[in-house]
Amino acid sequence: MEYKQLIGEALACGRRYTRYGKTASYISELAKRDPSHLGLAICGLDGKTAAAGDCDEYFTMQSIAKLIGLILAIEQNGFDVVFSKVGMEPTGDAFNSMVRLDLLTGSKPFNPMINAGAIAVASCLRGATFEERVAACLAFARRLMRDPQIDVDYKAFAAERATGYKNRAIINLMKSNGIIDGEVEPHLDVYFALCSISANCRDLARFAAVLANNGCDPEDGERLVPLPVVQRVRSLMVTCGMYDYSGEFAATVGIPSKSGVGGGILSASIGRMGIAAFGPALDTHGTSVGGLKMIEFLSDRLGLNMF
Ligand code: GLU
Repeated sequence: MEYKQLIGEALACGRRYTRYGKTASYISELAKRDPSHLGLAICGLDGKTAAAGDCDEYFTMQSIAKLIGLILAIEQNGFDVVFSKVGMEPTGDAFNSMVRLDLLTGSKPFNPMINAGAIAVASCLRGATFEERVAACLAFARRLMRDPQIDVDYKAFAAERATGYKNRAIINLMKSNGIIDGEVEPHLDVYFALCSISANCRDLARFAAVLANNGCDPEDGERLVPLPVVQRVRSLMVTCGMYDYSGEFAATVGIPSKSGVGGGILSASIGRMGIAAFGPALDTHGTSVGGLKMIEFLSDRLGLNMF
């Protein structure tokens, strides 16, 4: 496929930078990953995928799964319910920051791409039990990515659950602000399970292609996500998807994207293609260093900057 050579060049570019990053240390399972790993996949709007490097390696989606939680929560509850619990404004703060939550009593988290917002969104996910709620997320993830092997990495889940003090503080603060209904721990478990969904670059490129293709499966055209939901999600990816680097990323790369501390970056080039990069060595914002360079390279070479 035509992208094969370009992907090779992008990987070579990304490899020059992996040594400048570090794996996430606050979740023990992530700290164990090989920082030199690097993978890249492009899924065209015809559903054909080109991939290279460590593109078949499974890794946890982490913050990228915030997209799945958000889409599903909107489908289950509608925009009004979900956005009564979370706003749509960028913060410029770190992904796990809680400073703004306590500025005003009752203030809701700024957006669904930071931890506080994603936890509030996860609290809206329906189901009678933890298993039911996670099963709904997995069914949706498998359908979006057409990979029946997609599952929760329960080792990563347990590791994050054991040390998720900051997220526990965040949900308790939101509970005291009246944003969370019911007990906090079950909602937090659903959030940790979402973050621990394990996928590879090919899967994520396919998910990105669905977003790039206005919510339709790139292969058979089946509508998987309603257009207004895709539009809302893509806009939040542009303004808030790359943590406290979102503004600079929009200005320099210009593709709706979402990164995760597992080392993945999902980029949906609207009307063009889905891209997924993987590299567990992260920069200080929590984004894959090599992944970022590869996406920058592709945006530049393929003219993907939407602005
Ligand atoms: N599970 C991670 C956390 O809650 C996700 C963070 C991320 O990928 O940005 O800290």
